[in-house]
Amino acid sequence: MTTKEEFTKYLTSTEKYAPSTIYTYGQSIELISQDISNNLEIGFKSLFNITDVNILQDYFHRLYLIPAVMEMEETQRKRKNNAFKRYIEFCGTIDTNNFNVNQPDLKDIFESRTEGGQKIVISLVAERDSSLRASAIKIHGTTCFGCNFNFKSKYGEIGEGFIEIHHVKPLSSFLNSKVVDPYTDLIPLCSNCHRIVHRKKDYVLSLIELKEIINNPN
Ligand SMILES: [Zn+2]
Ligand SMILES: [Zn+2]
Repeated sequence: MTTKEEFTKYLTSTEKYAPSTIYTYGQSIELISQDISNNLEIGFKSLFNITDVNILQDYFHRLYLIPAVMEMEETQRKRKNNAFKRYIEFCGTIDTNNFNVNQPDLKDIFESRTEGGQKIVISLVAERDSSLRASAIKIHGTTCFGCNFNFKSKYGEIGEGFIEIHHVKPLSSFLNSKVVDPYTDLIPLCSNCHRIVHRKKDYVLSLIELKEIINNPN
């Protein structure tokens, strides 16, 4: 549990926002709580009662997948959406057990899109989690799933064990479980392929799409 005062104090301490923005963000948390109550959970009281980043992210993604809510956001220049992100950042700084504490920018954490009607959520946090990385490498090895590049084969000893880990997870399973499964959710990609799948701002290529491009560059 926290308060609007603590939240706005945090925003001030970052020295990133004008006082008027800080005021607006503070007010926005109550409006977002109403949005959650209206759209997701009747009787939802206040976001200030929740400081668990995982739970907050859950609400965030469910709320902004609702087209009507997102449309409204667009007309308000995503004011509440931004306030919500800042609030999650703030909660990351007060909950020291949370994996988001050192996360520099929340907009890196999730990217979502529709693929044949299916929503996809990508978590860059999972890609940076060293224990998840280690399990993914143990399971999948260090050869790129996109182009079969292997750093050790190319560079010898210095390349041994080097690979980037990419996170792909369907939204439905993301909402049902907050646990990242390295078997199904994480894949090894070389640095080039990884940059390419994240090349577009609002669109992350699937492994199938990546392979199609590699096999058929036009
Ligand atoms: Zn590759
Ligand atoms: Zn990635």
